[in-house]
Amino acid sequence: MLDSVRALYGDKPAAHIPDNWRDRLPDPATYYGQHVSKLGPPKGNGYAVGLCPFHDDHTPSFGVKLTDPRGHWCCYAGCGKGDMVSFHQRRTGLDFKAAVRDLIGGSR
Ligand SMILES: [Zn+2]
Repeated sequence: MLDSVRALYGDKPAAHIPDNWRDRLPDPATYYGQHVSKLGPPKGNGYAVGLCPFHDDHTPSFGVKLTDPRGHWCCYAGCGKGDMVSFHQRRTGLDFKAAVRDLIGGSR
């Protein structure tokens, strides 16, 4: 599979993300623990709550499902919702592919 893709598109590391990138995302608990202040333990439904990094949050209104490998999140105060990649894009300003590469590369 990968070889055929490489044959079609050539070796362009700058534009390439591996097919299995979803399996290589960091552990949601580790990742969000580094980016969300006061992130609590997951509740019965798998969601943990912390301070939203996208608005001036004083009462934890950011929920993230730590048992979900995609790391689904939502802000109850209206900042939106998404997955780990959209969160990382919003935090870093990177485009989708760059955000994925950054996440699976383990940096930041
Ligand atoms: Zn928010």
